[in-house]
Amino acid sequence: MAVNLLNYDGKSLVDFCTEIGEKPFRARQLLRWIHQFGIADFDLMSDLAKGLREKLAEQAVIELPSIMSDYAAADGTRKWLLSVGAGNGIETVFIPENSRGTLCISSQVGCALACTFCSTGKQGFNRNLTVAEIIGQLWLANKMLETFGDDAISQTKRAVTNVVMMGMGEPLANFENVVTALDLMLDDHAYGLSRRRVTLSTSGLVPAIDRLRERCPVALAVSLHAPNDMLRDQLVPINKKYPIKELLAACQRYLSVAPRDFITFEYVMLDDVNDSVAHARELVKLVQGIPCKFNLIPFNSFSDSGYKRSSAEAIRVFRDVLMHAGLIATVRKTRGDDIAAACGQLAGQVKDKTHRLTRLKIETVQ
Ligand code: SAH
Ligand code: SF4
Repeated sequence: MAVNLLNYDGKSLVDFCTEIGEKPFRARQLLRWIHQFGIADFDLMSDLAKGLREKLAEQAVIELPSIMSDYAAADGTRKWLLSVGAGNGIETVFIPENSRGTLCISSQVGCALACTFCSTGKQGFNRNLTVAEIIGQLWLANKMLETFGDDAISQTKRAVTNVVMMGMGEPLANFENVVTALDLMLDDHAYGLSRRRVTLSTSGLVPAIDRLRERCPVALAVSLHAPNDMLRDQLVPINKKYPIKELLAACQRYLSVAPRDFITFEYVMLDDVNDSVAHARELVKLVQGIPCKFNLIPFNSFSDSGYKRSSAEAIRVFRDVLMHAGLIATVRKTRGDDIAAACGQLAGQVKDKTHRLTRLKIETVQ
């Protein structure tokens, strides 16, 4: 059966080339054609001999998830619903800002960790995404935003300058595939992003945080959401297995190799649940001695969530308590909420959210 080359990082491509009787340097050429130039057709790989291109066409494919829908929000945010087979769909979101463009990538179909305020978690878990499905999101975004190019100049003009693993799923629960995709993001012959520009967000799988530290220490964001175990147990059930003290110890260990000299703590602002001044004060004490920044995320609602977003005033007061204690705290701007693309709103295989959307129909990109 033909193998999908999108599943391979640089090293696996070398192995593949050796297996089909080719020299290892062909792997680098393939890597560049696929990931740097955005070419999925062997016939267009002009510096490969015809014989090799024919061999590749027989033994390999470059197969991407297909785009089912392409949504554009009023603020420029784009969201793609991608089919990954068997009726499963995942979502990828592009968020343009003045000096950068951030792509929010999914790692699983659904999520098994069932955080109570998260729409993905409410949907349950179907399966892990393959490397091809993870890196394919970055490939497709560059294609759709028309910024692939075959020279150094166009590379510096890529629309996607930053990646956040903050879409559907818990990336550290799909460790090997996610790390292979991260390797491709960082590889100079593929996407060439620096470790500072790639952020992985986790709900706190402690052993996997340690493995990431050893394997591929990109910037780390941790979904804290509560200042004590009693409350965090309710909101983020995985806390019962890896309580806050162990999680913070893992964060401290991570800092020794982190590309940034702080950990980002995400904190969803839920009205009357975790947003009081007392919670903020407890939080200040909790993170004492850990170089960190807080990202306060106003709760994004979805049907039957059972939660309300904290008032703007409550969020401001909460942030001020953190800042007066010397912590850095920012309130995350809600982007793309008119296309259900904001944090925690990604639901994948959507039934009908089209009535509020600007919908561009694009069947396929090739
Ligand atoms: N599974 C990972 C990454 C995906 S979620 C994690 O939990 O960290 C990305 C961020 O959005 C996390 O901090 C998550 O807790 C937050 N989030 C989830 N649901 C949300 C919602 N409804 N409103 C606002 N933020 C939400
Ligand atoms: Fe999974 Fe993250 Fe949602 Fe929790 S917040 S259910 S870990 S995707």
